[in-house]
Amino acid sequence: MSRRFIQMYKTCFDKFRLPKRYQGSTQSVWNEYTQLFIEYQPLSLAHGFTDSPVPKYITDTLAATAKSSNHLLNQYTRDSGHPRLVHALSAMYSKLIDRQIDPFNEILVTAGAYEGLYAAIHSHIEDGDECIVIEPSFDSYAPVVKMCGGVVRYIPLRMKNPNNGIISSGDYVLDDTELEEVFNSKTKMIIINTPNNPLGKVFNRAEMTKIANLCIKYNVLCVTDEVYEWMVYDDNEHVRICSLPGMWERTITIGSAGKALAVTGWKTGWAYGPANLIAHLQIVHQNCVGTNVTPLQEAISIVFEDEFKRLESPECYFNTLRLELQAKRDFMINVLKEAKMEPIIPQGGYFILADWTALEDKVDLSSETDPQRDYRFTKWMIKNIGLQAIPPSAFFNEENKKLMENFVRFCFVRKDENLQKAADILKNWTSK
Ligand code: PMP
Ligand code: GLN
Repeated sequence: MSRRFIQMYKTCFDKFRLPKRYQGSTQSVWNEYTQLFIEYQPLSLAHGFTDSPVPKYITDTLAATAKSSNHLLNQYTRDSGHPRLVHALSAMYSKLIDRQIDPFNEILVTAGAYEGLYAAIHSHIEDGDECIVIEPSFDSYAPVVKMCGGVVRYIPLRMKNPNNGIISSGDYVLDDTELEEVFNSKTKMIIINTPNNPLGKVFNRAEMTKIANLCIKYNVLCVTDEVYEWMVYDDNEHVRICSLPGMWERTITIGSAGKALAVTGWKTGWAYGPANLIAHLQIVHQNCVGTNVTPLQEAISIVFEDEFKRLESPECYFNTLRLELQAKRDFMINVLKEAKMEPIIPQGGYFILADWTALEDKVDLSSETDPQRDYRFTKWMIKNIGLQAIPPSAFFNEENKKLMENFVRFCFVRKDENLQKAADILKNWTSK
């Protein structure tokens, strides 16, 4: 190569580098593990979406909408959210939080919860603002805070009851002193996620009240990611922090139709909260997504209107899904215990973390080069036993990655036959 060509290449490379605001962000675990799936075709208990068919009445609703004689249902709709959908969401959440939500000013429909989170952070975090992130945390939060010039203050959930035998996600708690210390005059925002991905922790009312009191004391905005709000097991309760005293005016709640209706490919979510806060999200949304997909919003409205009418009935989809998932969770708990992977019993969500330390002598991780042990272990599993799971260190910052390197995350929203296949794979491997 001529010197001139190298010089030209370097100049272009320099000019077209990733802008500073994104530097430090690396490929997400989802990108990397989707590629591994394509390459090795393992049985996947990795990504958070179901492998079962979506109920026919849900897909029929979408098909009928696309073919409707109302041809406008295939055109742009209102930027901040299709009128029928914001009305359906307003009816549902007004009842759940016992407060009238204004459909046109207090709700924004987004391209999945991802965009709701992105818009909430982008429209409220400025240079030097501090944002508290509770770990393990969904991996999109911290990079977005940083690209807005914000400073992330991490606080890990710590196990409080290590010796009681059965470990539940409820045994992972925030230390009161650590929590108080992480708040200060620069704190602008806290991001919470309940039920939590990947731990399955469902924050109880007392825990929520402590966080709420600190938000009020330090005048902090609370962004609450509640995409798994319908998947809460046993006698655990999903507490919406926006309904606690003094919290509505400082809370943005994020939801997802993809998760609620098990149609993650529909990529439709929302943010709701007081009009002054939601107006800021709309500013970010209007020049990025603009308008969300109209037929999807119409179909989701129809399904929500119907489900909302039968919310108390066992036939309501949210209730049938929850019971189905609880049975799958219990099946996986037994499978993992038999395989000597000690599970943390999730109170909600559809992921289960399991400790694989007891299986160390059954793996040879020397061929894998990743710095984190759980990445090496999950890659070993894909290549050697044909089973895919997610390394939980992806949900921690550099300093805290070690906290869950001995764990692996399995997704249990899978057909029973595929959970059985996973059980067989683990049994064949671990009983040798
Ligand atoms: N938050 C959490 C905790 C998630 O697990 C996910 C991914 N399912 C999202 C947000 C993004 O959801 P959506 O697919 O609606 O964008
Ligand atoms: N949220 C999903 C999970 O936790 C994955 C999201 C994605 O694939 N980008 O599995």
